[in-house]
Amino acid sequence: MPTYDYQCQACKHEFEAFQSMKDASLKKCPKCGKLKLKRIIGGGAGIVFKGAGFYQTDYRSKSYNEAAKKDKAEPAAPKKEPESKKPKTD
Ligand SMILES: [Zn+2]
Repeated sequence: MPTYDYQCQACKHEFEAFQSMKDASLKKCPKCGKLKLKRIIGGGAGIVFKGAGFYQTDYRSKSYNEAAKKDKAEPAAPKKEPESKKPKTD
């Protein structure tokens, strides 16, 4: 879980908060109680790296799906001759 640095613009109190990326940024200062918190972006590299990883996975799954489609299409070609057309010998 990433750590975010916050600084209160009112009392200059600084602290770290453990948050998931889904969580909204904090607003309320735990020291003075004012809604003056500002998130300090320091180590944003981690977030960028995660974004790139997401796109890589997306591309991989797309090409994988296309390959899977091809594999399925090939054996679909009929190799057996229809038996009903065989002439009956009496
Ligand atoms: Zn404060």
